[in-house]
Amino acid sequence: MLGDKMNKFKYSNDNKRYYTYNYFLKSRYHKKIAKVSLNAGFTCPNRDGSKGYGGCIFCSSSGSGDYAGHIQDDLLTQFNDVSSMMSQKWPGCEFIAYFQANTNTYGPLDKIKKAIEPFLDMENVKEIAIATRPDCLSKDIVEYLASLKKYKDIYIELGLQTIHDQTGQFINRQHTYQEFLDGLQLLRHYNLEVCVHIINGLPYETKEMMLETAKVVGQLDIQALKIHMLYIVENTKLASIYKENKFKILSREEYIDLVVEQLRYIREDIIIERLTGDGKLDDLIAPMWSIKKVTILNDIDKKMKELDCYQGDLYVKNH
Ligand code: SF4
Repeated sequence: MLGDKMNKFKYSNDNKRYYTYNYFLKSRYHKKIAKVSLNAGFTCPNRDGSKGYGGCIFCSSSGSGDYAGHIQDDLLTQFNDVSSMMSQKWPGCEFIAYFQANTNTYGPLDKIKKAIEPFLDMENVKEIAIATRPDCLSKDIVEYLASLKKYKDIYIELGLQTIHDQTGQFINRQHTYQEFLDGLQLLRHYNLEVCVHIINGLPYETKEMMLETAKVVGQLDIQALKIHMLYIVENTKLASIYKENKFKILSREEYIDLVVEQLRYIREDIIIERLTGDGKLDDLIAPMWSIKKVTILNDIDKKMKELDCYQGDLYVKNH
């Protein structure tokens, strides 16, 4: 598990004790890669009534795409605006076209093709990342996405949030853990790389439940993981619930301790894309401590050093 001479975690080049996203991008592309978040104008089945209304209770009106481009701009305009700013900051950098807002495989195949195809022959786009829900993956759509691998790397970002169906119901996910497993299996059947999202601090989840989510997800055939703290932001159902009857949210210390413990159960070859959230801070109600992301990441590093632990050092394969 450890690099031989330096006593370093082998999937990090900056003394972290988990598989950093930076390490992954550098190893695969050998240069600076930046993500450009896009809004292709899709919706979600738990918003438009096909499964439910209102979306997940924590989700902002932008469909978890607070940093995505403006829907009124076409996709190439969105991409060019952001990528040219990034190129000034990091001259020569290349890009991931990230279909972030809402459910980007929820719609007719033609609409999905029309959204993605402009990026397939762009020299400076190395990867296309597509955020979606596990219950919005038909065989036709997955076959199409797999067929794009000859042009670009394709990453599918799959929202799960929790393995616990009772929490899934409370947060209005409108899909079960089993449906997640079915979607994942289909994607992996076509050899598509998958990044899974989970959230810590969902209402009424215990520490044991959150740990169990990490332990179970850390065993799956996935390639990357994003761990978020629950953000309570204005104009969401969650904000009303919280204002009416404050449920317990994790303290900063609890979050750090929990994430460190979760990492220990996650297979060491799973890339950790995120360990903090990415909500719109202007609208943030709680937890206010989450604003200082860099210090949280530093304290996660410190805690891992203090415990002398690493990603996956408690991982036990059980199937
Ligand atoms: S599925 Fe994703 S984008 Fe849609 S409502 Fe839930 S969190 Fe928001």
